Amino acid sequence: MSHQLTLDQIRRAPKVLLHDHLDGGLRPETVVEIADATGYSALPTKDPVELGQWFRDASDSGSLERYLETFSHTVGVMQTREALIRVAAECAEDLAADGVVYAEVRYAPEQHLEAGLTLEQVVEAVLEGFQLGQERAAAQGRTIRVGTLLTAMRHAARSREIAELVVRYRDVGVVGFDIAGAEAGHPPTRHLDAFEYLRRENAHFTIHAGEAFGLPSIWEALQWCGADRLGHGVRIVDDIERMADGQTRMGRLARYVRDKRVPLEMCPSSNIQTGAATSIAEHPIGMLRSLRFRVTVNTDNRLQSGTTLSEEFARLCQAFDYGWDDLEWFTVNAMKSAFLPFDERLALINGHIKPGFAQLKWAD
Ligand SMILES: [Zn+2]
Repeated sequence: MSHQLTLDQIRRAPKVLLHDHLDGGLRPETVVEIADATGYSALPTKDPVELGQWFRDASDSGSLERYLETFSHTVGVMQTREALIRVAAECAEDLAADGVVYAEVRYAPEQHLEAGLTLEQVVEAVLEGFQLGQERAAAQGRTIRVGTLLTAMRHAARSREIAELVVRYRDVGVVGFDIAGAEAGHPPTRHLDAFEYLRRENAHFTIHAGEAFGLPSIWEALQWCGADRLGHGVRIVDDIERMADGQTRMGRLARYVRDKRVPLEMCPSSNIQTGAATSIAEHPIGMLRSLRFRVTVNTDNRLQSGTTLSEEFARLCQAFDYGWDDLEWFTVNAMKSAFLPFDERLALINGHIKPGFAQLKWAD
């Protein structure tokens, strides 16, 4: 590459985001305002700037307790219909402002029942919010489409119920199912009933696997549960050996993941905060991209990591000298892997993504 892409250039590129948590992407000022309006009194500070910094520091601290505390506050203010609509609308607007044209945003409905909402009311409020945000973005000349993934918590026992919600709302904006939470001690096979139900209903799902926990978690997610994609999946590198001559030797699981084009939802900054990778430069994404795994780039939790999709790409460009062709490759990978019907994916790739990148390359 002749020169490094700037953050501003990357923001203008049409991008696709598959792994982003609704409760990990609130604006700090929104957290403060909803807390005030709903009487939530547990925030560490009411100053939005300080609060934003507190979220990042707590997430960087290396302490799982402090990291989880950040979500207790975001989830804590997302308990009413109005709050859910606002948070979802702002999420769509913020992603559109960052140049995201298609996003799949996930959250766990079961975590938003404290003030008396039902699971259905939670799902409907969030769908309404995304719709509102898409309309506001369109009014500002930005096109974004947001699909929802409903997450079940792996330590809880509601996965079948959440899977049924996915099927019930699949024609009105819910595009798939996910399972999240601490991997160790909570194998995805505990939720086989939900996965088997989804498969019988021809529905899509991804599983958080291979982040903190290694190959057995990835293997279970794929070969027992039948996941379409892997949330993170970074530990697949444990099945790839780098030889002295620079060549690589892959185990059967890594080969399977590459052969079957299993999409990997990689979240570089988040992986560093949780210790799944040591630095961006050392992140397995470099090796996996060069071996042509189906790698996608994602944000995970924008608030906790203080990041955006454009910033994640900017960090990768700096570490691996990526240029427009690489960014387009990651973006087309993500669009191909989205839980949208094939013709709609193709329309976004050919009508939006490829022309967008062609224009940027031409102008550069
Ligand atoms: Zn995640």
